[in-house]
Amino acid sequence: MITCKDIPQLANMHVDGELPEELQIQIERHLLQCQGCAFEVRSIEQTKSMLAESFPRQESPASYRERALARLQAGLSDVLSPPLEPADTQWALPFLRDQSA
Ligand SMILES: [Zn+2]
Repeated sequence: MITCKDIPQLANMHVDGELPEELQIQIERHLLQCQGCAFEVRSIEQTKSMLAESFPRQESPASYRERALARLQAGLSDVLSPPLEPADTQWALPFLRDQSA
């Protein structure tokens, strides 16, 4: 008997068709009755088909993302590290506050 608890560990193999037919049928039966697990298995199916589509490409999404990120960080480095405040100002502030209190 398949329960919701079993689905996460079986879903991957189910999508790949690696389970015994009897188990596949039990899972299918559960998915018909359980929207939550059906959604989970469907999202695994979609992820797998997306991965399968992107594999034949010469440029993997990961390396493209890495290079895009590196470019972004290079472009933002000026913004991310603003010039430091003059030390005078930083130390003067608490000092001024003490005087006015
Ligand atoms: Zn379920």
